[in-house]
Amino acid sequence: MIDTHAHIDVQDFDDIRDDILKRAEEANIEKIIIPAIEPKTFNKLIEVANSSEKLCFGIGIHPHNSNEVNGEAIKLVEQIINEHNPVAVGEIGLDYYYDFSPPEVQKKLFREHLKLAKKYQLPVIVHNRDAFEDIFAILEDEQDGTLTGVLHCFSGNPEQLEKALDLGFNVSFTGNITFKKTNLEETVLVAPLDKILLETDSPWMAPVPHRGKKNEPAFIKFIAEKIAEIKKISIDEVIKMTTKNAKTLFKIVVLLLLFTFYSFPIIAQTSKTEEGGFKDIFSEEEEVYNPYEKSLGIGGFLGTNTIVQSIQEARGTRDVSYEGILFYGGMINFFPWEFMSVQLGYVYSKNTKIVEKSKNQLGPNIHQVIELGTQWYVNPNSRLNFFGTLGPSIIFNKFGEGTDKQKENSSFAINTGIGFNLNIPFTGVGLLTLAAEWRLSFDMTVSDTYGVIFNPNDPNDIKFVEQRVTSFFSLPRIVVTFYPFNRQ
Ligand SMILES: [Zn+2]
Repeated sequence: MIDTHAHIDVQDFDDIRDDILKRAEEANIEKIIIPAIEPKTFNKLIEVANSSEKLCFGIGIHPHNSNEVNGEAIKLVEQIINEHNPVAVGEIGLDYYYDFSPPEVQKKLFREHLKLAKKYQLPVIVHNRDAFEDIFAILEDEQDGTLTGVLHCFSGNPEQLEKALDLGFNVSFTGNITFKKTNLEETVLVAPLDKILLETDSPWMAPVPHRGKKNEPAFIKFIAEKIAEIKKISIDEVIKMTTKNAKTLFKIVVLLLLFTFYSFPIIAQTSKTEEGGFKDIFSEEEEVYNPYEKSLGIGGFLGTNTIVQSIQEARGTRDVSYEGILFYGGMINFFPWEFMSVQLGYVYSKNTKIVEKSKNQLGPNIHQVIELGTQWYVNPNSRLNFFGTLGPSIIFNKFGEGTDKQKENSSFAINTGIGFNLNIPFTGVGLLTLAAEWRLSFDMTVSDTYGVIFNPNDPNDIKFVEQRVTSFFSLPRIVVTFYPFNRQ
């Protein structure tokens, strides 16, 4: 989330600025934009904005202060644009509610700021109170196709919203949309999600349930929640889009932090970090690390199989287990979406332990499995991903291979498992993934086979008995997969 409008440089925050920045961090706020108010606090504004990577600022003179400024003030604004890389010109605009400055003075200063914004290709942050008509007239006049910006704390009706959008502007919503008596619901409802920004306007306009208290950036989630509620969409969607909108408008360049092998996958989910991008360049597309989407991979795996069999014989039912049986196989893995893959695999496992146990009276059991799996990724956009697997399999069994007791059948099984993937991109070549997975296979079919009974008193007295077995396979494995057509 980005709080596109928070006056955290004001005196109200002097004693608690570190705390509110910490809480903003905890609330997953990537960036806070501090708009300027008046020339006498410009120095402090820049100092506060430079104190953290998470902060950036706009420069300009608030309409309340229009009266106090002279020609030197607008020169100072331009000088700061040149020397300190603000992300916007603002906040500027018109305020006819408070009678601090005559409208003509406000209008003149507003226009001068708009010209500066165009000259330096910066977006504008526009304040408006009871002045829609003049705001629109001036914006229309100054709009030559290069002017971009946001009407902050937007409180207009749907018709005024339409006008703002026609002028190429974004709108940002703040705490007042959460108030019980708000008349902004319809405006929020019809505002297109790709034109909305979030803001707190801290320290003012605290949203419900903090109404009346000192507002702070961490409260931005209540604005996102309210927008999601009105539009009947998910909060995630609101956050994703408004963040993207803010980055595009304010040209905030996002760099991707690639996580190392040791990073914890859950943290990696929020691994995107950004760097203030104030350069006079076109905004860069957000880079999202998305290694898998629509890619086809081929892989191989190796592991040790533990087979537990439930055996029914004439003399009763019992369980036997065989451990440490090598198995291997190959598969193809296709991602229709980044968070899910479909896998078709082949597993070969030869149980020779039964030959030892039967003192060479029986041949090995061979299990060949065709596994159809779906894998579901918890955090697909990270270097290390957790996943779960579920799917059906068919097992081709050959019991007692190579002896006259050999029996063959096929059975149906369910396979399920969990694992994690480390993905290693090779630019221009493809993506290599290393996975550790533990898969279980539950055989749903009863198979007929033979068992051996020895007479402890006479080693030559050997009896073969018919058995009915159901098998359970535990198949932990190391998987190496290569996606040659991967776009990364
Ligand atoms: Zn403001």
